[in-house]
Amino acid sequence: MLQTHGEDAKILAGGQSLIPMMKLRLAAPKYLVDINGISELEYIREEDGFLRIGTLTREVAVEESELIKSKYGIIAETAKTIADPQIRNLATVGGNLAHGDPGNDHPATMIALKAQVVIAGPEGDRSVDINDFFEGFFETSLKPNEILKELKIPIPSGKSAGSYIKIKRKIGDFAAAGVAVQLSLDDSGTCRSIGIGLTNVDSVPLRAKRSEDLLLGKQITDELIKEASQLASDDSNPTEDLRGSEEYKKSILRVITGRALKSAVSRANGDM
Ligand SMILES: Cc1cc2nc3c(=O)[nH]c(=O)nc-3n(C[C@H](O)[C@H](O)[C@H](O)COP(=O)(O)OP(=O)(O)OC[C@H]3O[C@@H](n4cnc5c(N)ncnc54)[C@H](O)[C@@H]3O)c2cc1C
Repeated sequence: MLQTHGEDAKILAGGQSLIPMMKLRLAAPKYLVDINGISELEYIREEDGFLRIGTLTREVAVEESELIKSKYGIIAETAKTIADPQIRNLATVGGNLAHGDPGNDHPATMIALKAQVVIAGPEGDRSVDINDFFEGFFETSLKPNEILKELKIPIPSGKSAGSYIKIKRKIGDFAAAGVAVQLSLDDSGTCRSIGIGLTNVDSVPLRAKRSEDLLLGKQITDELIKEASQLASDDSNPTEDLRGSEEYKKSILRVITGRALKSAVSRANGDM
């Protein structure tokens, strides 16, 4: 159907973004391709060095998965901050990414986890690095005749942990700003890998690359955390809206980046 109808068709997953957009007349697809019957797209498993999540997996399944809670806590922590339980019963992880909304929470976490997305189309499957997936405001590299099939997250090694922190005005709201940090430390406490993703502070989900580069290969001290948090704030481009001014968002981003880094380091060391 996607092949036949091209841009006139839209995939319907949980419908928690698409239906509101249709109600607001911001989207008016002629055809809805309902993928809810494709149960093969709902799974969470480790295989061939990756955690693999089928894109039709509901937020509630991610939140409750023992595998995710025990080894990829940041994903469960992220899912819990999304909307409310009713929405999380229907909304899918794939829809959260495919929508391309810089205010959605999973993109930053997938950036921090250095995920790849698997996309299926007429020519077969292709893997895309998460950093190349988001192309613009509500724009991704998905073509109209393609479907997002799987998220692939490298299984972490060493002492690894993450943290997702989101500031929102009230329960159920999108982020005024959010930050995802995932890092690995070796036995000497040196940072061997780090990913930092930012929510709702640019037209696309943002990778805080300068902050990552500053911390990689070093012992993470309070002084370095301060510097890395400032860099993340400097590199963000939030716009003023009902959630706050540009200055406010940059300021809270600096603070929560520091908190998320400290929390990830403590968790990696088994302190909390
Ligand atoms: C009141 C409210 C509050 C919300 N708050 C938050 C929040 O705080 N944080 C947050 O992250 N999200 C929030 N959301 C958004 C919600 O989490 C998203 O709707 C959801 O994650 C999108 O998934 P879905 O399965 O509902 O996608 P749908 O709404 O079905 O689809 C969304 C878009 O993705 C496309 N799509 C879906 N699946 C695929 C696929 N497998 N392949 C290709 N394209 C696909 C659709 O064609 C459509 O364009 C909120 C939504 C509501 C209604």
